[in-house]
Amino acid sequence: MSKIKVKSLFRYPRFINKWYANFWGYFWLPCDICGRPFGGHESDEVLKVTQAYGHMVCWRCSDEARKRNAVLLAELYEDSK
Ligand SMILES: [Zn+2]
Repeated sequence: MSKIKVKSLFRYPRFINKWYANFWGYFWLPCDICGRPFGGHESDEVLKVTQAYGHMVCWRCSDEARKRNAVLLAELYEDSK
C-alpha cells in the first residue's frame, strides 16, 4: 500500500500561501531542488549541505531531500573512517 501524505491531499492556492508567509513573517524563497517558490510554513524537510547545515526545501521535494541526505550522510560516514 502506498504511503499517502494527508498534508498533500489539499493545498491552498499559491497566492494564499504567499500572503500567509508574508503576514506571519515566514520566508518566501525558491526551493533548492525544484526552484518553485514556497513558504517557510510549508516545509518539513531540510536538504543538508553539510552534516550540521542545510536549506529548507518545499513540501514537493521532501522525499528527494531525504534521499540526497542519506547519500550525503553515507559519504560523510565513509570519509570519517
Ligand atoms: Zn521543491
